[in-house]
Amino acid sequence: MQIIRASDMGFCWGVRRAVDMMEQQAAGGLPIISLGSVVHNEQVVEHLRGRGVGVAASAAELSGDRVAITAHGVGPQVLQELREMGKEIIDTTCPIVTRSQRWAKKLADEGFAIVIFGDPNHKEVRGVLQWAGNRGYAITEDEIDSLPGDMPSRVAVLSQTTHNPQRFANFVALLLRKRIDRISDLQMINTLCHATSGQQAAAEELAGLVDIVVVVGGRESANTRHLVEVCQARGVATHHVETESELQPAWFDGRERVGVTAGASTPDFVIDAVIARLEQFSSAVPA
Ligand code: SF4
Repeated sequence: MQIIRASDMGFCWGVRRAVDMMEQQAAGGLPIISLGSVVHNEQVVEHLRGRGVGVAASAAELSGDRVAITAHGVGPQVLQELREMGKEIIDTTCPIVTRSQRWAKKLADEGFAIVIFGDPNHKEVRGVLQWAGNRGYAITEDEIDSLPGDMPSRVAVLSQTTHNPQRFANFVALLLRKRIDRISDLQMINTLCHATSGQQAAAEELAGLVDIVVVVGGRESANTRHLVEVCQARGVATHHVETESELQPAWFDGRERVGVTAGASTPDFVIDAVIARLEQFSSAVPA
């Protein structure tokens, strides 16, 4: 059995930047509490905890003077709340997310409804929605009919950064088809992140080369789950694991080539451990 790595996988530069910023700040000796998990990956959270970066689930649970905003960003009300609490804010929001937030605020201020193609419960989307004030709606392609009839006729469409480009394009087309009688002006702002679309393209390519794929990443990680969807859509057997301990030898019975890919929040040391475990069954070759 050969092991083939995706040509693009693992930490994106935005997550690497956020983790580096937090580690550097904590290295000074003053602890930091991050507001929510840095990324959707338990192993990264533990790694950072060992370096003085704790986690609080909400502002009410924060201790200490210093708080880090994660790469997903937060909305203006959260920032205001932290300022009123007198916290020193270390903002590691990914610049690509910041760009989405700025577009949402600018166009909402101009009177547009802000329709975000995304999951309203995802941390990044919750933040962008707050920047859109009371003009924001986060929906997927199945929920277009739920948009209110009295929504502003000028509509700006943004995407959760980690979504699949083709799905976003289809969403925009469907929105226009379904709402053409109620839209006077439609602006599509491409807020997709190329880091994840590159990883999705690499996963798709990988799925065409192998007969089983292992996708490594946190169960709560949206971009990891998208990689699973991409591989499944190619009809290849796909298993999502968080760590090497979940690998089951029976999955690989009769398989000749196994592909490995990983979400943008998966650190190198977790990927390496998965590959090392797979190598116990086989020999590795480069992609
Ligand atoms: S996936 Fe893209 S938008 Fe999200 S943190 Fe990474 S670089 Fe930034």
